[in-house]
Amino acid sequence: MVEWWGMSKNTTPLVIANWKMNPQTIAEAKKTFLAIRTAAKKHSSVSVVVAPPAVFISELSKLSLAGSLTLAGQAMHSAALGAHTGEISPTMLKGLGVQMVIIGHSERRAGYITDQLVADKVAAALKHKLTPIICVGESVRDEQGNFFLTIENQIAACLKVVPAARLKDVVIAYEPIWAIGTGKNASVEQVHEMKLFIIKVLTKLVGRKKAAVVRVVYGGSVKAASATDLYHQTGMHGFLVGGASLVGKEFAGIIQAVATPPRA
Ligand code: PEP
Repeated sequence: MVEWWGMSKNTTPLVIANWKMNPQTIAEAKKTFLAIRTAAKKHSSVSVVVAPPAVFISELSKLSLAGSLTLAGQAMHSAALGAHTGEISPTMLKGLGVQMVIIGHSERRAGYITDQLVADKVAAALKHKLTPIICVGESVRDEQGNFFLTIENQIAACLKVVPAARLKDVVIAYEPIWAIGTGKNASVEQVHEMKLFIIKVLTKLVGRKKAAVVRVVYGGSVKAASATDLYHQTGMHGFLVGGASLVGKEFAGIIQAVATPPRA
């Protein structure tokens, strides 16, 4: 099979909206979701995923579209039930029709989440047939390039719980922490280099053929204006988008950039 940047060319691109703790009301959430739904309908070649605050999932699931627009959780506990105040279980997400879940977002890793906890959550997500979107990323880029090791260690810690047959159900989101919510995305060169590095790490861990089925997306201040180059020139398989996913026109522009073939 023909491979593109280490990945099969006919894999559907992915654009994920991480709304974080926004918006403030279900009315606003529905309005934003419907705008995204319009864009998703227009570009059915792109798989669009919205990760809203958990309290909105139930209502929004009534508006989602099978296939091209689906829902994700922003976080999840690894246990199926029990004494875990304030947490959400994989079974609860699954019961609401959710298909994916963000795991190890830097805004949560910063609190208390270790690589081991991330791995536990990845295993739980797979067990409950949820696709884990595993966030990895360095806080700073040191001149010696030690940040590459950070990424390698984060990936290795998670992948050890992923059976070979489930690699196709895993998404790795490269999210350099310094680019998240700062308005300063990583450059095309930096993202391209990291994509190649991630493929190299995956190849070392599971072999070239299996590495090629893992989807890898980029996240960090992606906007409609930067999406075309960040998508077509880096080999990333799509984006995890925070701030811009709350602005209908911006997010629609990102979906369109991914759906549009590269300039000849
Ligand atoms: C994120 O929260 O995952 C993210 C990438 O945020 P932003 O696009 O706002 O940098």
